[in-house]
Amino acid sequence: MGVMIGLEVHCQLNTDSKLFCSDSQDHRGKRPNENTCPICLGFPGSKPKISKKAIEHGMTIALALNCNISRTMFFSRKTYFYPDMSKNYQITQYEVPLATEGLLSVGDLKIRIRRVHIEEDPARLVHVGGDITNSEYTLMDYNRSGVPLAEIVTEPDFTSPKQTRAFLEKLMNMLEHTGVYDPGKEATIRVDANVSIDGGERVEVKNITGFENVEKALNYEIIRQNSLKRSQMKIARETRHFDATTSTTKSLRKKEYEDDYGYIFDPDLPMVRIDDEWLAKIKRLMPELPDQRVARFVSQYGLTEYYAGVIVYTDKRFADFYEECCRSNGHPDIVAKWAVNYLLKSLNWRSEKISDSKVTPKGFVEFLALIENGKLNERFAKELIKEYVDTGVSPGELLYKTKLNISEEDLRDIIAKVLKENGRAIEDYRSGRKESLQFLIGLVLKETKKQSNPNEISKLLTEMMPR
Ligand code: ADP
Ligand code: MG
Repeated sequence: MGVMIGLEVHCQLNTDSKLFCSDSQDHRGKRPNENTCPICLGFPGSKPKISKKAIEHGMTIALALNCNISRTMFFSRKTYFYPDMSKNYQITQYEVPLATEGLLSVGDLKIRIRRVHIEEDPARLVHVGGDITNSEYTLMDYNRSGVPLAEIVTEPDFTSPKQTRAFLEKLMNMLEHTGVYDPGKEATIRVDANVSIDGGERVEVKNITGFENVEKALNYEIIRQNSLKRSQMKIARETRHFDATTSTTKSLRKKEYEDDYGYIFDPDLPMVRIDDEWLAKIKRLMPELPDQRVARFVSQYGLTEYYAGVIVYTDKRFADFYEECCRSNGHPDIVAKWAVNYLLKSLNWRSEKISDSKVTPKGFVEFLALIENGKLNERFAKELIKEYVDTGVSPGELLYKTKLNISEEDLRDIIAKVLKENGRAIEDYRSGRKESLQFLIGLVLKETKKQSNPNEISKLLTEMMPR
């Protein structure tokens, strides 16, 4: 049987309003509990209204994940007692979710999507002086309460923690491409990871942020479950919490079963019907998805699958950056080569994304032009790109500052001097010993402290050689 893993992924939807009221979804910069109203605070007697946009975003996700969309659906109340939800129930979808039976492929890995549904986000709890298991006290911030979420539930198709990371990266990239998710709004993707070994009870690790943490939590959980099993102890069905500081999981509570939530139909909300026209409209407005974009990069820019794949799957903004550069540089293959092999490496080294780096399309195009015009040879270019990523100083200025470029005039002077001092090598060259030229190039390079271009030196040397 081995390891079985299934994920529940919560994605904040990029709407203007909250799911059931007209408060802004975006609460950046607001004081705690400022961005609330009687509906998202769950006052008795307040009446929720469904955001159409949230349903549409859910439909977009469902289509991108190849799901079947339910044409008639409703919302249910999931009852539980916890301060993050003052109504004591969360409005979610249970009996009939927005969509079911999808699929997302990541390379050869095929992960079935069990369901996609829409629900409201609970309030944010701030645990002071510790974490959820040991804090001194807890503060409540309802600004987030009622933000629309899409919950994407997979089948337990993963067999290793590593696969979940690849899947989540692809999913995130896809969500960004659809435009329903905006990481710039400090939106987060939160994951509940379910894992069992050898057909045993499953454990759910709740509310993990960061894909690396999902992988770590699962790795820990598998080791823990295996060691319980080896000592013939029982693996309990429970909910656990991931502690990012120690990379371990701790027990939160014994897992409730479905019945404990006492799901009931929410009588405050109408049924939602999706007719052909509405569905057709969402299909028509469907943005280009990552796999389609890779195919387009291959045909439009003549890239190999490999380069197109790296650029698009790195993240949407890296692909946007690449296309922006191609608009002002006529060699998409060269842009790709430098973007993937050097720019991306330098960014990764600094654990930076293109969008939060100092690199701009204008600067990168300038860098490429320096190479194309022979002002910068490949070896120095590899140095300079690192410096550009580190400092954000324009490549032209960097070149000047680090004196990687010696003016042609200076270079001619140095060559003249080398030629004057090496009459013997010149004679050898003339008598047919071509390697003498390499020797002379070496001397010039040394004189310029290697800050010149061998091709240029070779050209000037043969031109200036006395006849
Ligand atoms: P619940 O609603 O109680 O959380 P679900 O049946 O909806 O339970 O499943 C939630 C998640 O648990 C899904 O992602 C599913 O793939 C995963 N899951 C179900 N069974 C197992 C199992 N035996 N091992 C690991 N994950 C599982
Ligand atoms: Mg669940």
